[in-house]
Amino acid sequence: MYDLLLDEPAVPADFWSWRLWAACRQADRDLFFSPDGERGSAKRRRERAAKAICATCLVRESCAAYAVSSHERYGVWGGLSEHERELIWRDEETRAAS
Ligand code: SF4
Repeated sequence: MYDLLLDEPAVPADFWSWRLWAACRQADRDLFFSPDGERGSAKRRRERAAKAICATCLVRESCAAYAVSSHERYGVWGGLSEHERELIWRDEETRAAS
């Protein structure tokens, strides 16, 4: 899933080093990203399958922290769905505004 991101020239290599241990490197990328128009139970099933892989991943916390801090809008990262990250961002915005 991360091979495309490894080509990013502006990011230092050590920033991404956690990805070398990513459990999803051998997984089907389609498990982690919604196809166009996916909704409802199909989306929940796919996300559950992706999260099951994340649950075994040694770098889950680094992955989740990256996705939240970089505002990754799409995909399951660090065991967090798009919706779950949205909730985290909303919570951060609410706390920042108070
Ligand atoms: S936590 Fe999930 S998405 Fe992140 S590197 Fe591990 S398997 Fe991949």
